[in-house]
Amino acid sequence: MAKLDANTPQAIQLRDYTPPAFLIDKVDLTFELDETQTRVISRLVLHRNPAHPDARAALCLDGRELELESVKLDGEVLDGSRYALDAESLTIAAMPDNAILEIVTLIHPETNTSLNGLYRSGANFYSQCEAEGFRKITYYLDRPDVMARFTTTVVADKQKWPVLLSNGNKVGEGQLDKSRHWVKWVDPFKKPAYLFALVAGKLSKLADKYTTGSGREVALEIFVEPADLDKCDHAMESVKKSMRWDEQRYGLEYDLDTYMIVAVGDFNMGAMENKGLNIFNTKYVLARPDTATDVDFDGIEAVIAHEYFHNWTGNRVTCRDWFQLSLKEGLTVFRDQEFSADMGSASVQRIEAVRTLRTHQFAEDAGPMAHPVRPESYIEINNFYTVTIYEKGAEVVRMYQTLLGREGFRRGMDLYFKRHDGQAVTCDDFRAAMADANGYDFSQFARWYSQAGTPVLSVRARYDASAQTYTLEVAQSCPATPGQSEKLPFHIPLALGLVGPDGADLPLQLAGENEAQGTQRVLSVKEASQTFTFVNVPVEPVPSLLRNFSAPVKLDFPYSRAQLVHLLAHDSDAFCRWEASQTLMLEDLQDLIDAARQGQPLALKDDFVAAMRQVLANEALDPALVALMLTLPAETYLADQQAEIDPDAIRAGRDAMRLGLARALRSELKASYLRLQDDSAYRFEAEAVARRSLKNVCLGYLTELDEPALLELAEQQYAKANNMTDAQAALAGLVNWAEGDAVLDAFAKKWAHEALVMDKWFTLQALSRRLGNVQQIKALMQHPAFAITNPNKVRSLIGAFVHNNLAGFHAADGSGYSFIADTILTIDKLNPQVAARLAGSFNRWKKMEAGRRAAMQAQLERLAAQVGLSRDVYEIVSKNLQ
Ligand code: ZN
Repeated sequence: MAKLDANTPQAIQLRDYTPPAFLIDKVDLTFELDETQTRVISRLVLHRNPAHPDARAALCLDGRELELESVKLDGEVLDGSRYALDAESLTIAAMPDNAILEIVTLIHPETNTSLNGLYRSGANFYSQCEAEGFRKITYYLDRPDVMARFTTTVVADKQKWPVLLSNGNKVGEGQLDKSRHWVKWVDPFKKPAYLFALVAGKLSKLADKYTTGSGREVALEIFVEPADLDKCDHAMESVKKSMRWDEQRYGLEYDLDTYMIVAVGDFNMGAMENKGLNIFNTKYVLARPDTATDVDFDGIEAVIAHEYFHNWTGNRVTCRDWFQLSLKEGLTVFRDQEFSADMGSASVQRIEAVRTLRTHQFAEDAGPMAHPVRPESYIEINNFYTVTIYEKGAEVVRMYQTLLGREGFRRGMDLYFKRHDGQAVTCDDFRAAMADANGYDFSQFARWYSQAGTPVLSVRARYDASAQTYTLEVAQSCPATPGQSEKLPFHIPLALGLVGPDGADLPLQLAGENEAQGTQRVLSVKEASQTFTFVNVPVEPVPSLLRNFSAPVKLDFPYSRAQLVHLLAHDSDAFCRWEASQTLMLEDLQDLIDAARQGQPLALKDDFVAAMRQVLANEALDPALVALMLTLPAETYLADQQAEIDPDAIRAGRDAMRLGLARALRSELKASYLRLQDDSAYRFEAEAVARRSLKNVCLGYLTELDEPALLELAEQQYAKANNMTDAQAALAGLVNWAEGDAVLDAFAKKWAHEALVMDKWFTLQALSRRLGNVQQIKALMQHPAFAITNPNKVRSLIGAFVHNNLAGFHAADGSGYSFIADTILTIDKLNPQVAARLAGSFNRWKKMEAGRRAAMQAQLERLAAQVGLSRDVYEIVSKNLQ
């Protein structure tokens, strides 16, 4: 364990929240940008906050890694005796109730490798302030409940930095002297500092226009490096679709004259919703059919929508404190999911969201970093941009809609904006708006915000043929999580139907009701155990439970294999159909894993193979759904189902299923593959995407078979592909065989200058059975296209390997663990946020088999003993060792 001393990072607690001692009405910023230093001149108009308990409290401004040049209070220069300065703050004890403070600081974006605050990427400047990056720009009340009106003037050499951007509207520009120019921006909306943004550099612009429902014209501008201007069309279309959708679904219009997006290749996260000036990772902007896959096109549409939707859910109404992060993130993910559902196939979108949740969030909920949707404490807030806050948070928002219906949910949203526009609020405020707008009791629902862990919903059914009743006994429980040993029952919406022997849904009438009410309904489960009895049930049904995944829980129902096959064939709910196929698949995978562990032969069950054959043959099904049904769960998800994790057995069992299906269905897979060929020009449209996805799943199976003729199919597909989806899928199949080497080389030559495409090349190798090992990863880190300072490169090579290549990372000799510990220490000095994400690769350590567990523990202890660890990495490591 790390020693507790003055340098040990301390946790911040929700229960300690106090309103700020001062509020800031107005901020005037001037930036003098230059190669070797940047001067920031800040003029703050402040007043004492009557809501603060102490009417004489000092003003304590946040600031880190700043060089203070001067402080003036109401025009008077303060000498060092009038303020106190430490590594994280500037404090002025004697403050009038109203004041003007002028602070000049020097900062060094050119050496800022954390990509937090103001930093350089290439020759350009970019900023990232969420959550607490603004304090690396100037001394400020860097907390979301301090909302101010910002004016920003940027001064820079005109040749080097011709484009100068900040939030709001451009109100002036000019030439300062021979070489320098300036641009002034005014943001009319008050905002917290985390939404501040600045961009300066040589950028090209794609411009377009959008007319809002009420007839206002908005200029749309996407800024990228000049070489990327031909990859912005899809992003621009996505902006327009998002704007239209938010007007139609929620009556929300854009509120400034200009909406700007800037893409940058060095970026810690996906994108950032700075007011009027969103800054994006290039990964979520740039796409051309030959450089980006269907998954990329889809991701761009979703992330553009997400950041745009934040303008209302995040910016107009923001968070009171960072414990409320899910207030904006969960809600905005829910909104982007609903948007994506409307743009493409709703059921495919839903199944993919559930896969993400189960693979990543359920794992988080079961590990050392488990936290509620509204955490109670954190050491480093950047560690809480998690799948729990985002994806589980979105599920919590979705449950309001499931319980209230779409119209009731809209009433709640309308009231939320009516009450809170321009405010910084809490998750409880959102819940109250939903409750009050609908007269609905959401008091028990609050536990979804406060209790961590994935609830288990156990259902048992009883059919009484003579009484014609069907009774469901429903019980819920939730495992203990760090700091929370006992859990109280949740309010769980259980959507269900009863499927008759002919495959049709039966009418649903609960005991006590006069007549049946539809064939699908949502039960409110609120007790630890509860009984629901359906009457007038003429035949024994198969229950279709948790339709559309109506709650983020694990369902436990003792389905027979015949019942699963019935649901798989007939359920009217696409999610439940897919779920039936997954349940069958998981059962058999578990048997294979157990057999592998005991050194027994690995064989598939006939009824499972027959069911998969039928799925593949069913041309009436959406090909995208067929593709999802044929896709195996990730190795890491399988690991999370084990009492003790043996990565080699999981790899062997999973590979055996892929190979077994490929052998058994060889001719059907090949026929489907050939039937789904398409020589037309690439289009990103649901139907074409669906066909490509199934075609490439088939190819993936076929390339499991060591047959030259089948590998040739992949080589041909690679050679004639007119799009990256097909090229990448072909390469993914080949990369497990020696035949892949030549194609990998050709790929690297062709795409050496496209950073995002080279990311794919790194990931393909990191995930490959043949190449995904520590030696190879180390060798690839020496490749000219790799850069340890670039988060996309770290994620696509090292992140992919440690997070998604279970058997590769967890090699029995422990080489993966010492490698990642070394790498974490190197990266922690450059970029703590990225290092902390890699440290998450230890989160499963307590469940590993004994040898690996000991090796992982040794590396964790080695990390914990390091002096000067960032709080980011410290938090992950120390929570792992608790
Ligand atoms: Zn967001």
